Amino acid sequence: MSEARSGTDPLLSVSDLSVEFDLRGGQVSRVIDGLSFDLRAGETLGIVGESGCGKSMTALAVMRLIPVPPGRIAGGTIRLGDENLLAAPEARMRQIRGNDISMIFQEPMTSLNPVYTVGDQIAETVRLHQGLSRRDAHAKAVEMLRAVAIPAPEKRVDEYPHQLSGGMRQRVMIAMALACEPKVLIADEPTTALDVTVQAQIFDLLKELQQKTGTAIILITHDMGAIAEMADRVVVMYAGRKVEMADVDDMLARPSHPYSQGLITCVPHLQATPPKERPPLPEIPGVVPSVAELGRGGCPFAPRCAHAMLVCRREMPGIRTVGVNHEAACWLNESGQVAA
Ligand code: SF4
Repeated sequence: MSEARSGTDPLLSVSDLSVEFDLRGGQVSRVIDGLSFDLRAGETLGIVGESGCGKSMTALAVMRLIPVPPGRIAGGTIRLGDENLLAAPEARMRQIRGNDISMIFQEPMTSLNPVYTVGDQIAETVRLHQGLSRRDAHAKAVEMLRAVAIPAPEKRVDEYPHQLSGGMRQRVMIAMALACEPKVLIADEPTTALDVTVQAQIFDLLKELQQKTGTAIILITHDMGAIAEMADRVVVMYAGRKVEMADVDDMLARPSHPYSQGLITCVPHLQATPPKERPPLPEIPGVVPSVAELGRGGCPFAPRCAHAMLVCRREMPGIRTVGVNHEAACWLNESGQVAA
């Protein structure tokens, strides 16, 4: 885990964010509901949850890339420093994307253009955002490939994406994302398509580059193991809502929400019991509710929760403080009673 580098002032502040999508038949689905979190300079904030929980939609909202229609940001604010991104003109957002906030995705092949060399693609990014000459941009591309530990960067710079391995393509994406030294890097499942050894290398690389540049990272993942490896703090999302937020060490030691407990239990090496004595890994039963099922009132986790009480099915639990820098949205208190 890296140390958050500076002050406590948030670099990026998401407050009461809601995102809605129009469904067929005139229905509206709220895919993010009242989400709030801060990102501090130099830290890594993990956002974790199963697929469909709203974590990738959160990244698209921050980049203001929600497809409108059928989607729209229905409420809240997203501030980068003093600037409200939701009020920024589109031309300003184009400057912010890449310059101030960059993003890397799970599958680099869908983000890299197969008909251009990787060098041309990195060079194009820096030419666009930093106005470098063709020659300087090419030199910057080689420098960035070297920074992400691609061997023989002077040669690789002229290769096409299909000539590189999956791990190298992800390194190219990281090089492209960090070329303009953004304040924020959003990494959406950056290692999911890679094998375990390459995953570890990519995480090491991200940590090393973060220490050099001070870039704050939002790591979006379904994998609590990746959060334990990379993040300083973590937001657990379920059905479009924040259900728990804490410093990572505290989350792993004292998860409060039954869903967070389930996510941690599903990761073998996060458990204290030695491997031979462990029972088979449990799964969280059931699935995330579909967008059409959301908004029916009550706690959306209730159909899967072993602790569900009458109140859970009737009323949505609000966020409450459960420890130092630790909050959770659950009716159950520490004594197993309904929280006041
Ligand atoms: Fe389970 Fe109730 Fe807590 Fe929801 S509010 S997670 S149903 S105990």
